[in-house]
Amino acid sequence: LLARLKDASLVAECGFVAGRPVAAAATGRTFEVTNPATGDVLATLPDLNREEVTAAIDAAQEAQRGWAALTGKDRAAVLRRLFDLVVANADDLAAILTAEMGKPLAEARGEILYGAAYVEWFGEEAKRIYGDTIPGHQPDKRIIVVKQPVGVVAAITPWNFPNAMLARKLAPALAAGCAVVAKPAAETPLSALALAVLADRAGLPAGLFSVLTSTDAVSVGRAFCENPKIRKLTFTGSTNVGKILMRQGADQVLKLGLELGGNAPFIVFDDADLDAAVEGAIVAKYRNNGQTCICANRLYVQAGIYDAFAEKLAGRVRQIKVGDGFEAGTLTGPLISGKALAKVEEHIADAVAQGAQVLAGGRRDRRGGLYFEPTVLTGASATMKIAREETFGPVAPLFRFETVEEVVALANNTEFGLASYLYARDVSKIFRVAEALEYGMVGINTGLISTEVAPFGGIKQSGLGREGSKYGIEDYLEIKYLCLGV
Ligand code: ADP
Repeated sequence: LLARLKDASLVAECGFVAGRPVAAAATGRTFEVTNPATGDVLATLPDLNREEVTAAIDAAQEAQRGWAALTGKDRAAVLRRLFDLVVANADDLAAILTAEMGKPLAEARGEILYGAAYVEWFGEEAKRIYGDTIPGHQPDKRIIVVKQPVGVVAAITPWNFPNAMLARKLAPALAAGCAVVAKPAAETPLSALALAVLADRAGLPAGLFSVLTSTDAVSVGRAFCENPKIRKLTFTGSTNVGKILMRQGADQVLKLGLELGGNAPFIVFDDADLDAAVEGAIVAKYRNNGQTCICANRLYVQAGIYDAFAEKLAGRVRQIKVGDGFEAGTLTGPLISGKALAKVEEHIADAVAQGAQVLAGGRRDRRGGLYFEPTVLTGASATMKIAREETFGPVAPLFRFETVEEVVALANNTEFGLASYLYARDVSKIFRVAEALEYGMVGINTGLISTEVAPFGGIKQSGLGREGSKYGIEDYLEIKYLCLGV
């Protein structure tokens, strides 16, 4: 990996705790980060524990007071420098990301720029944390609403977007005047550490942003939830872990931001532009090898267009080049782990046992390792595991439907409510369906909905709060009102 980089110092073999690097050797407890494409060891990191978590939180609280006292403009200047540094080092950051996570290099670079966009956006927002004045309820009263940073924020992030999921939390927190202690996924901590290196270079005050490298997520999660200095926990990951954190945070009524699992429906109506729908499905299903929480999980295709859509999609899917993310032309890398591979195989086997047909892919790729062929299944039905659980892999099950009412009911028949997609041309149908879908986000005639300018987030068991847009900063602010007698 180091040979690929212009700036090898972006690979930090240490945690960052309370403004100091903590090397693996200093702790005696270590773990290895490996490349899922090759199994090669990329780095050996300290396996930090409760003591270091507490030290990081203490320092964060110290640093936060001074940071919050700065003007929004001064905080914005630091975030702007961080944005510029991320963009300037995008190639190196992308290589680090591909090495630890497996996604194709071009996609990794896209993620780096996407993450950077949040840093830019929220840096700009730092200057616009407006309050309100409210006409008093009595002639001698004046009411003023101010917004203040929540304080020290704990962030727990997943492996599927090792840079962007952290940037989406770090940027609004810092813009609002908060400090951040982050625990990245143990599979992919190097991207988070690289961000910490750049934050330091951007002039972020020491201690304001710690990165705790650890394989003991359970202990770190507890240490976050039990520490009264933590005022908000922001988490992106599985619904199960989100529920655990919610229970653990209950004792101190911890403010929570949760971006949890999804089970996105992708609906194609008879009047859709077929080619556009196929391209949208490719992006919404196979991006990141199906490993995103907004990936299309259930493709509902109306009867009149079903066969044509299935054929065309399968044709496109057979062309997807599977390989090492560093190889030119690779569109899909390996899955993240053997467990992920097993889940994909289990969902396909269950679907086939219940009558689904494999139209494309369906097997481990001939390269072996963690590679799996991009797959299309026809004849999917509601009782299959693939209809109820998030597959998190490159499998598109196609369900046939007849009417608008039927598909809306099917699409909403899940405890999740993150992303949804629909393809149609009839404008009144588009509005009716988009309004009836119980989801936080609806992609209409597009398979790509993520942007820093829009509020990303879910309803039902997909989460709490929104990331990005003018709404995103509110999650890191408390409202206080001043009632003044005159
Ligand atoms: P995934 O299945 O995508 O790995 P997880 O929800 O297990 O999703 O992981 C997302 C993040 O949550 C990772 O950083 C992981 O280490 C962390 N995590 C897992 N279990 C816990 C837990 N009990 N408490 C706190 N964090 C956890």
